[in-house]
Amino acid sequence: MENYYPIVIIGSGVAGLYGALQFDERYKVLIISKRNAELSNSSLAQGGIAAVLDGSDDNIELHIKDTMIAGKYKNNPEAVRVLVSEGGKDVIRLKELGVDFDLDSNGELLKTLEAGHSRNRIVHHKDFTGKAVTDRLIELVRERKNIDFIENTHVFSVDKAENGFYIGMLKDGNIETVACSYCILATGGIGRVYKYTTNSAIATGDGIAFAKKLGAKIMHLDRIQFHPTAFAGEQGRERFLISEAVRGEGAVLLNCYGERFAFNYDERGELAPRDVVSEAIIKESMRTNSENFYLDITHKDPEFIKARFPMIYENCLAEGIDITVEKIPVFPCQHYLMGGIDVDLYARTSVDRLYATGECSHTGVHGANRLASNSLLEALVFSRRAATDIMDKLTKDCSIVKGSMPKYSMGHIVLPTGIRTEIRTTLQDSYFVIKKAEKFEESFQRFNTILENLENTDYILNSAYIEAKSLATVAQEIMLEVTGRKQQEDY
Ligand SMILES: Cc1cc2nc3c(=O)[nH]c(=O)nc-3n(C[C@H](O)[C@H](O)[C@H](O)COP(=O)(O)OP(=O)(O)OC[C@H]3O[C@@H](n4cnc5c(N)ncnc54)[C@H](O)[C@@H]3O)c2cc1C
Repeated sequence: MENYYPIVIIGSGVAGLYGALQFDERYKVLIISKRNAELSNSSLAQGGIAAVLDGSDDNIELHIKDTMIAGKYKNNPEAVRVLVSEGGKDVIRLKELGVDFDLDSNGELLKTLEAGHSRNRIVHHKDFTGKAVTDRLIELVRERKNIDFIENTHVFSVDKAENGFYIGMLKDGNIETVACSYCILATGGIGRVYKYTTNSAIATGDGIAFAKKLGAKIMHLDRIQFHPTAFAGEQGRERFLISEAVRGEGAVLLNCYGERFAFNYDERGELAPRDVVSEAIIKESMRTNSENFYLDITHKDPEFIKARFPMIYENCLAEGIDITVEKIPVFPCQHYLMGGIDVDLYARTSVDRLYATGECSHTGVHGANRLASNSLLEALVFSRRAATDIMDKLTKDCSIVKGSMPKYSMGHIVLPTGIRTEIRTTLQDSYFVIKKAEKFEESFQRFNTILENLENTDYILNSAYIEAKSLATVAQEIMLEVTGRKQQEDY
């Protein structure tokens, strides 16, 4: 690692990796990942990537319409048009880069259907598309001479300098600092602020906390997607997903009496958008006074199920459920953040030289609710756009980063246990699928107190402390939104 890079990207999910690969080889890029390269929400993505491709019965207007309907027309129409009209090319680019998508006998990309889509437009690699994409992008990034990639290095601060930033990070227990002209936050989601989530352990909203500290505009953190069908076993915080594609292939949702009920809440039944199905389950749960729900795909050919959903089949089997002959226990779970660090069509935040891409950003494409498989697409399209914009600026910009380097301290007080658990429980109790207004004020005050304590106590600088601060910042932001303390805008 050098002590200066024109571009630093924080995050090695699809947004960080694909963005880094867009930079011309004459620009040095540093990617920082707080855990190993493979641990990200990107590598967990199952269903696939939505894209309008040539030679199908699909078209851009249909994908835009589906995206706007799912988003309850709270989407930024301009951003949606960019996403949909440019996304196909990025998907083809991934194929050219060697991502092993499932193909038909003519070598064309196979496309499947997912909830909320009016056409088959989801390209995939079996049911572990995210892993197929990230594994290949990681390989490519490692081959590139202009990209340095450091793992297990936790960024704890991004500080503004003249003409750039200083990035403070914790590597092997020591503080290191690097300067950059442009910083891209690609730090992913916030799932770990909830008790139950499908998100990986890295999803603690660190980038959102850094951006907030820098004064960047943060928007709509209360726009949280709860996935209706996470596996409801005995596991801990991270719940694996029974993807929409299982319902797309005909699985039905049953209540505790073994009755189908989704059509009682929406005419699209099991294939309604996620928020609609999640809410249907919670309401049905209140009606039946039971949290026992199931997905049933046993009417399909067992060989088809195993070939189409090998990962889900194996994961369920490991939990004692053979999905070819047994119903799968499911319940809603935090899954995705539609809001985030507000950016424009080139992923520029409101802070000069600071960009945000992927799940930590708010481009406005998802509106009030994300259409399935639009988020990997968003990560691709807007990370490429960020890189294009930065390269354009770098050709005209030879200014050097100036200003005194911040003095970071290692701290000396041990972080008490239980803070992160308290944040999760408090949030889960006040806003999980349905907002419980009566709990908002108390939760908001509690998050303020926790954050104040974290910011003003000389706690030892380690990952637990960094993430506790991020979680408290995110929880506080969510409460600012739900209590109406923030100005509400559509997008
Ligand atoms: C189970 C599951 C299934 C999904 N399925 C689909 C799907 O089928 N289709 C779809 O479109 N979307 C899907 N999604 C959503 C999608 O995967 C994510 O929105 C997307 O991958 C986010 O990519 P990202 O690059 O923004 O973040 P991530 O892939 O989460 O990467 C974040 C990166 O930031 C790093 N990082 C974070 N904080 C720091 C820090 N402080 N210092 C250093 N590094 C840091 C992390 O280590 C990680 O490398 C799914 C999500 C989940 C959880």
